[in-house]
Amino acid sequence: MEYLLDNAVTARIGTEKYKCTVEWRNGRFIVDEPEKAGGKDAGPDPYTLLLSSLGTCTLVTLRMYIDRKGWDIPNIAVAVNMYYETVDGKKITVLDRDLNFLSPVTSEQRERLTQIAKVCPISKILEGEIQIRTFVYSDGEDEKKHTYSNKDITVVWKPELCKHSGRCATQLPQVFNPGEKPWINIEGATAQEIKDQVAKCPTGALSIAK
Ligand code: SF4
Repeated sequence: MEYLLDNAVTARIGTEKYKCTVEWRNGRFIVDEPEKAGGKDAGPDPYTLLLSSLGTCTLVTLRMYIDRKGWDIPNIAVAVNMYYETVDGKKITVLDRDLNFLSPVTSEQRERLTQIAKVCPISKILEGEIQIRTFVYSDGEDEKKHTYSNKDITVVWKPELCKHSGRCATQLPQVFNPGEKPWINIEGATAQEIKDQVAKCPTGALSIAK
């Protein structure tokens, strides 16, 4: 198993209604709820983010395809919205995507681009099978730690915080191997490779002491 993103998207909320700060690989942005839901509308709400994800993925996928084909379609616009309906007693979420090529396209191009839009990566995720796994942690639990050192680096591991399903062992098995004792082989990769992997530990179970 390998995660799609090198760095997880992380978010935090405090007591200010309902301002969330999202950190992504190149910065941060605010997510909020609209005023009618008790927020200050200081940023997009989670539904807007979901729809933006589909809309922008569609545009990027189309742009890549159009450029590859060398077609003269300089601008594309998309509008995305959603609603719920009940079919046979089951609640269904329907996402509507309206594409506008903002310049004339042939019927053949229109047909092809419609097919391409339908298979953009986010479309495939949303229309495929999704499983959401939830892991729960809390800070300040147990401070018991183990250290693994060589002359370049010291890795600290707090077993009580290690509740994830082996991200480190999957991504850098020559260093992190739960089947071995000690389970961290500090000589198994360069100090930089180990530091990069430690930075991906989602719980703080792994850290660098030097
Ligand atoms: S050390 Fe971190 S990345 Fe490795 S299994 Fe534990 S929680 Fe997951």
